[in-house]
Amino acid sequence: MYSSRPTAVRTLRLRVKDKHAAWLCGLVREVNTVFNYCNELSVKVFERERRFLSGFDFWPFLKGATRGECPLHLPVQAVQEIAEEYARRRRQHRKIRLAWRKSGGARRSLGWIPFKVRTIHYRGGQVYFAGRWLSLWDSYGLGNFELRAGNFSEDSRGRWYLNVCVPRASTMADESHKPSIGSVLDRSVPSVGIDLGLKSFAAFSDDRPPIDAKRFYRDLEPALARAQRARQPKRCRAIQAKSVLDAGWSAFRTMLQYKCAHAGVWFAEVDEAFSTQTCSVCNSRAGPKGRKDLGIRGWQCPVCGAIHDRDVNAAHNILAAGHRRLAEGIRVP
Ligand SMILES: [Zn+2]
Repeated sequence: MYSSRPTAVRTLRLRVKDKHAAWLCGLVREVNTVFNYCNELSVKVFERERRFLSGFDFWPFLKGATRGECPLHLPVQAVQEIAEEYARRRRQHRKIRLAWRKSGGARRSLGWIPFKVRTIHYRGGQVYFAGRWLSLWDSYGLGNFELRAGNFSEDSRGRWYLNVCVPRASTMADESHKPSIGSVLDRSVPSVGIDLGLKSFAAFSDDRPPIDAKRFYRDLEPALARAQRARQPKRCRAIQAKSVLDAGWSAFRTMLQYKCAHAGVWFAEVDEAFSTQTCSVCNSRAGPKGRKDLGIRGWQCPVCGAIHDRDVNAAHNILAAGHRRLAEGIRVP
């Protein structure tokens, strides 16, 4: 697991005052227009050339969007970030096209306005974005932080938030310990992929043994047994999933994060779709699928013949996704 960002960051979430909601909703229409344009363009290029545009590839097409006769109000760094986010999501979901973002109607997409580093500025309880000062409930004292990339987002009740990345102060000094990205990518320093699952709590892409999930939900076993006796399968699943997800995974991730930061190790979470189904040797999606195959621990790839442990194979795919992310991180400043 690695981080695509050179410093460990955390995200601060601050409520934007409601008086700005209408103006932000106006910008959302522009965001959706840019996003949908990227979607359309991406499909066209794919149909013509059988390749997908990267986030960076969209930039020349979007150059004029914030200038000219009918310019967008969004800053150019926001427009670029929309394209990059589009490319990331499309790749993550492995789709040729994504769902359109809708600006109106019952199935309207919740507002989302991303921006890159050096796009917003803070002064005295307000942030400057797209030519306006927006008032916030400044619960963190933003003036003390170096503001990086982030987004404005709307919740289902129409309230707006600023989500902004800031460097973690305590880890700044550890940057010098980190190996170069190149040395990670050419495998001259070791790296490991970790798959978090229900059966194996954590499985690793190298040969260390998996961590058994039972250790993490033992405390809930009396409740689980009661639910099982009462034949409440939904309740059973809820208890299992909840305990593992809530307590185990989040604690494990937090620990990994700060331990990696202190040890000078690149760390990133990757949310890789199909990591279980994809063969880590030949990349064909031939592995176990869905709930019916949940019990399958080992399988043989029908395409290349490789024999896999389900979770170790997933960990390999996650490691590969981590390397891809790190490689992308070099290009995006
Ligand atoms: Zn295979």
